[in-house]
Amino acid sequence: MALADHVKSGFANLQQNCFHQHTIHVGHRFLITGGAGFIGSHTALGLMEQGHSLVILDNFDNSSPDALLRVEELANGSGSLELVEGDVRDADAMERAFQSNGPIDGVIHFAGLKAVGESVRDPLRYWDVNVNGSRVLAAAMERHGCKTLVFSSTSTVYGEPEIFPLREQTPTAPIHPYAQTKLAVEQMLSALGRNGAWRIASLRYFNPVGAHPSGRIGEDPLGIPNNLFPFITQVAAGRRDQLQIFGNDYPTPDGTGIRDYLHVMDLAEAHGMTLDHLLKQAGPTTLTLNIGTGHGLSVLEVVHGFERATGITIPYKVVPRRPGDVPKLEACPLKAKDTLGWTATRTLDDMCRDGWAWQQANPMGYRGE
Ligand code: NAD
Ligand code: UDP
Repeated sequence: MALADHVKSGFANLQQNCFHQHTIHVGHRFLITGGAGFIGSHTALGLMEQGHSLVILDNFDNSSPDALLRVEELANGSGSLELVEGDVRDADAMERAFQSNGPIDGVIHFAGLKAVGESVRDPLRYWDVNVNGSRVLAAAMERHGCKTLVFSSTSTVYGEPEIFPLREQTPTAPIHPYAQTKLAVEQMLSALGRNGAWRIASLRYFNPVGAHPSGRIGEDPLGIPNNLFPFITQVAAGRRDQLQIFGNDYPTPDGTGIRDYLHVMDLAEAHGMTLDHLLKQAGPTTLTLNIGTGHGLSVLEVVHGFERATGITIPYKVVPRRPGDVPKLEACPLKAKDTLGWTATRTLDDMCRDGWAWQQANPMGYRGE
């Protein structure tokens, strides 16, 4: 489907390039599955700003074509973007993505399902989309001789760790189907990596938040947000009365859960740097990297940080723990620094300011237009 089919009038003024510049070679052609989603749209923009041509495969299960229109608008003529609307599990759609306008140099595989509670209620759907979808993609890559892949994994593969810092070799122990499916894909990819000339990186993201500083693209959860950050911005906007803090009796300094929040722009940059690294490798490579700041924050620290950054008070009430939540997840990000030269540079203030700017400009997300 041509992006132009979705074109609407009234684009805002074009924005300046807000990504930090890294040394990726220009002029590659990448396939981005799930490129219309939260992390995918920010990554797609960064790659286009570096002059790359993108094919985006997405079925808009959890996103809007408007995100891609805005990515094109923000890229302001740099790079290019083609859309193949389809499901990652559909080998024909995948074939269309690989056959569009030239060979693909590398793939970033974001497409997947990510709601922990839903994965407990419907594990088969998670194994189908996340695992089978990845298998269909890898098979198409083999057929087309494209063996450079970045996979979206998750810090939840570590389960409920007790020993920190969390390094990549820390034993994995996923406690719900979502994390189990992500670990299964990591294992499938390691097996592939042992068999041939693959260059594969599994990135274990911690908690991406915030938005592009323009306020034009951001996280757009359907219905009541599951995650802390979009819930806070919706309380700030008056869409929700108050935040519920899930437990203040964890073994943490203030009793609330600790997570390693990182700015989605930092995470997007990590993808460009990972592709750059993989494409430079002469031989087979299989990498697993934590992508986080290394500095965990409690729920109360995030709430107060948001209040400081925006001047808005967030009413909250402490309620019982949410089933399945763990006390603490915090990355050791040193391997990503040593391997890619990547570190997160943006602060909690940046995350709050940019996330709030997106929420204010788009009170109903992409559906508001
Ligand atoms: P998102 O839901 O915003 O983006 C996922 C994209 O994939 C969406 O555009 C959706 O429409 C698309 N998609 C879903 N199922 C598809 C299918 N069957 N075929 C084609 N497209 C499909 O999620 P996100 O936050 O951008 O996450 C991207 C990836 O990163 C996911 O795989 C997720 O599991 C992983 N991840 C996310 C987080 C997080 O906190 N956001 C943390 C760790 C890992
Ligand atoms: N959290 C909360 N209220 C909410 C959503 C989340 O107190 O409405 C807490 C949750 O218990 C966890 C932290 O915020 O300690 C991060 O939760 P989120 O769902 O954003 O990320 P994840 O649990 O997937 O790491």
